[in-house]
Amino acid sequence: MYCPNCGNEVSEKAVICVKCGVALKGENSLVGTDGKDWLTTLLLCIFLGYLGIHRFYTKNTGIGVVQLLTLGCCGIWTLIDFIMILTGSYTDGDGKQLVKK
Ligand SMILES: [Zn+2]
Repeated sequence: MYCPNCGNEVSEKAVICVKCGVALKGENSLVGTDGKDWLTTLLLCIFLGYLGIHRFYTKNTGIGVVQLLTLGCCGIWTLIDFIMILTGSYTDGDGKQLVKK
């Protein structure tokens, strides 16, 4: 990728540009949105998971509708999501991991 400030080519993993010193990760976080809150998603999954509400919250709307219609596949799907949230492998609709605040 390239530095948005000076155009110098920098590593994908670079935190700051070595040429001009601008914070690259800061630039990215302004553009993209933060991941959804981990605890909120977990609580929604526990209490309203059979309605797929945690899926709507995390922008997985398509899956949320299916879970709503099938009641979380009789709770099995909800249980799988609950375990995924606990283990940190659950991602939101943008493919981002949940954020523990
Ligand atoms: Zn730069």
